[in-house]
Amino acid sequence: MEKEPTTGNWTKRVIIRKEIDKYLVSGNDFINEAEIFNKLAINVNPAPELIRDILQKSLAVKTLSPDEAAALLNVTSPEIWDEIFHVALQVKKKVYDNRIVFFAPLYCSNLCVNNCAYCGFREANIQEIRRILTIDEIKREASSVLKEGHKRLILVFGEHQRSDVDYMAAAVKAVYSVEEIALKSGRPSSIRRVNINAAPMEIAKLKILKEAGIGTYQVFQETYHHETYHQVHPSNTVKGDYQWRLYALHRAMDAGLDDVAIGALFGLYDWRFEVMGLLYHTLDLERQFGIGPHTISFPRMTAASGSSLSSESPWSVSDDHFKKLVAVLRLSVPTAGMIVTAREKAEIKKTVFQVGCTQTDASTRIGIGAYSDQKTENDLDKKQFTIGDPRDLDDVIQEVIGLGFIPSFCTAGYRCGRTGETIMGMLSHCDEGKFCKLNAVLTFREYLSDYASNKTREMGEPLILKEIGEIESLDYFKKKPHLLQKFRNDYSEILNGKRDLYL
Ligand code: SAM
Ligand code: SF4
Repeated sequence: MEKEPTTGNWTKRVIIRKEIDKYLVSGNDFINEAEIFNKLAINVNPAPELIRDILQKSLAVKTLSPDEAAALLNVTSPEIWDEIFHVALQVKKKVYDNRIVFFAPLYCSNLCVNNCAYCGFREANIQEIRRILTIDEIKREASSVLKEGHKRLILVFGEHQRSDVDYMAAAVKAVYSVEEIALKSGRPSSIRRVNINAAPMEIAKLKILKEAGIGTYQVFQETYHHETYHQVHPSNTVKGDYQWRLYALHRAMDAGLDDVAIGALFGLYDWRFEVMGLLYHTLDLERQFGIGPHTISFPRMTAASGSSLSSESPWSVSDDHFKKLVAVLRLSVPTAGMIVTAREKAEIKKTVFQVGCTQTDASTRIGIGAYSDQKTENDLDKKQFTIGDPRDLDDVIQEVIGLGFIPSFCTAGYRCGRTGETIMGMLSHCDEGKFCKLNAVLTFREYLSDYASNKTREMGEPLILKEIGEIESLDYFKKKPHLLQKFRNDYSEILNGKRDLYL
């Protein structure tokens, strides 16, 4: 029988050089730092007319060029920033309508072979108590998350031989298998979309994840700045290879996972540079595969156990700059979903919902096993970082309703094959937002009947009626009477107790 390889051997087999080289151009990756610094330098003092032209391009749902994004980043006038914020929300509404999609993260394991200077899970952090959930424990966690009303999960893993792709695939299948009964209605419920945030992998392993039925595959580059990347990710670790990470999502596309999510950890380097990095990443995916990322994340670094960098970084991003970077990303890649997480405080989340965010997590627990065992969550030593918004899903939903958005638990897109090129085409023609509006209403109807508190129901019922009124009056649906009829039927079937109907 083959002996189990040691962790040392395992890490040496992770990186496959030819699965980096095939994407390089003349041996170079797509982050040309001199070019980025130059674009930021030559686009200073942009004229207001230029900025307004750029805003119009974004409103026409076109990805901006690096020069255009650099011009936005160089705006200094508060009045022009107000115009930028205003148009960012308009773009969001045009492409994604007025919905906010909810999900929950599920941390499966904090075992990790890397030593990222900002993260509580890093190998050298001896304060961290290590734990990897068994498949039964993962099911228990999924049950707890379901009881809140969630339908969409993202599974999160450290990088380790014990949480390799087979464990991930088993975790995905385990989550899909769990069924819970909603207390308020007695209706069955299950997780309908499982996404993954995990370390970069080779193409063969990514195909296993596709086979397991994942929705989105998410990898954050952390920082696009090469030197900073090497400073915070030691070279003797797997994560120390910048390009292995940079092309993680290119490999995912080649593995047939066409729903990919990019992100940068803000606070490691200059925020303007990272926004440009995210745009260059988008442009290279578009160039090589014809489609950009499905979502962009912009986590800000928060305090992590045993990491001084996480609380003392010279590059930490102020709330004012955070709002600006979210707006510029919204405008630069109009088709991308934009995720703000519970790392941010409630007030900040509220601010960035209004400059174009489309998704957020709620009732978030980041301790390993913390949804079913609250004790695990209370101890910072056992967590990767700190969260700023511990509110329950129901509370965040009330806030979102108050802001005029409709909460959505829609997972229909990928279940109907609206991924990759199909969804990007629909997003750029602003069709996806219309489908999403229907599915947002259907899934929010389920939430109101199955989980909502009395106060949320009081706020939610008039909102649903308003949304249905809008749907009935839109020309788009008048021209699609079958779709409208199916929506009406599905809505009344849900009221009569049926579940999981979507368009
Ligand atoms: N280990 C995998 C990896 O590194 O890709 C996946 C998961 S890691 C647990 C998820 C993300 O959390 C990281 O990509 C990083 O951006 C973020 N993160 C790590 N430390 C953080 C901190 N102190 N504050 C905020 N986010 C952090
Ligand atoms: Fe490990 Fe990911 Fe944390 Fe780095 S960010 S230490 S790879 S869990």
